[in-house]
Amino acid sequence: MRKVIVQKFGGTSVSDTDKIKNVAKIVIKEKENGNDVVVVVSAMGHTTDYLVKMAKELSPMPSGREMDMLLSTGEGVSIALLAMAIQAQGYEAVSFNAMQVGIITENVHSKARIINIKTDKLRQNLKEGKIIVVAGFQGVTEDGEITTLGRGGSDTSAVALAAALNAERCDIYTDVEGVYTTDPRVVPNASRLESISYEEMLELAHAGANVLHPRSVETAKQFHVPLRVRSSFKLDNLGTLILGVDKMEIYRPVAGVAADLSQTRIVVCDVPDKPGVAAKIFSKLAKEHISVDMIIQSYARKISNTNDIAFTIDTNDLPKTVTALEELKSEIGATGDIQVDENIAKVSIVGAGMIDRPGIASTMFETLADLNINIRMISTSEIKISCLVDKDQAERAVKALHKVFELESDEVADVKGDLPNV
Ligand code: ASP
Ligand code: MG
Repeated sequence: MRKVIVQKFGGTSVSDTDKIKNVAKIVIKEKENGNDVVVVVSAMGHTTDYLVKMAKELSPMPSGREMDMLLSTGEGVSIALLAMAIQAQGYEAVSFNAMQVGIITENVHSKARIINIKTDKLRQNLKEGKIIVVAGFQGVTEDGEITTLGRGGSDTSAVALAAALNAERCDIYTDVEGVYTTDPRVVPNASRLESISYEEMLELAHAGANVLHPRSVETAKQFHVPLRVRSSFKLDNLGTLILGVDKMEIYRPVAGVAADLSQTRIVVCDVPDKPGVAAKIFSKLAKEHISVDMIIQSYARKISNTNDIAFTIDTNDLPKTVTALEELKSEIGATGDIQVDENIAKVSIVGAGMIDRPGIASTMFETLADLNINIRMISTSEIKISCLVDKDQAERAVKALHKVFELESDEVADVKGDLPNV
């Protein structure tokens, strides 16, 4: 049976018609290798940002439905153009949007999860020898409503398609040459990783490494889809392979350092110290589809019998979060304020090799202490340590941590100024 390869091209790879021609060549080459090819594309260049900007000019809080109607149009343009470019080079191609394929998602706007992908139409067209171009980032509910998967979601579309089609591999083509030990725009001599485990990549992606949409890595891990991140401009470089931790040799405690500047810290002050309070707060937020990251409950104050519950959220969810908490305040008997601090950044070190290796956390804290950077919150997992610091300290922290954990390469990474594949 012929192998299916899924390729995904980000916005910078299709930002003008010359680049689309270049993508068509890469796609055709894979087809010429004897594989069936399904291509997923993002919207051209900064189209999605531009659409968001227009929406915000018209309404401070546009409805989720209309926002998805709007944002899904970007990918509609790029799929048709790429299919034309492939046809112009003498190959059969067909473009499909999510509705035509049947990329079924839950009924949530702006960050829907894929539930199921129908493959009959795809298989039929592959059988007819066609190259298929599918719109990334978008989905459709059972009722035919258009949804989107969240910013950067085309990666997830590609991996989900690869899983559904039992693809040999999913290649994510972007404008960086792979996954680096940290953002090469911040640390020019960051090293490219030859390979990284799903687990580490997930932590890095959640910690703010912009290379891949976190859900794409989760999906790849769940369905064992080998994932390769590589440059669409430097084809001789094979990029970074992302695979199961069991398939890797771990040779260093820390694989990467990341900073997330898009988080906001919320503190619900003076909540009663009794069972059920945290449950009420976080189930309310969950119901609103607000994901919460670091959570800290302070030690209860004896005199008032209250404590503070602090956590971080994505800054985009801030208005929704404040509304939800204000509604909840009297129900949980909180007597203090709800404090909001947007001036924070989460700096994380990640590495599967830190398991059972003591001293990694203390090295991180000492490094920050030497720079006189105050740590405002700490959270850890088996393979990650994150510290919340003031936003303007994040860059210094990343640079120092990258150095102390010996992640530098001898070469300077070749990167453009744009955000990777958004
Ligand atoms: N076009 C969407 C965005 O800019 C999806 C993507 O690029 O993956 O977020
Ligand atoms: Mg992207």
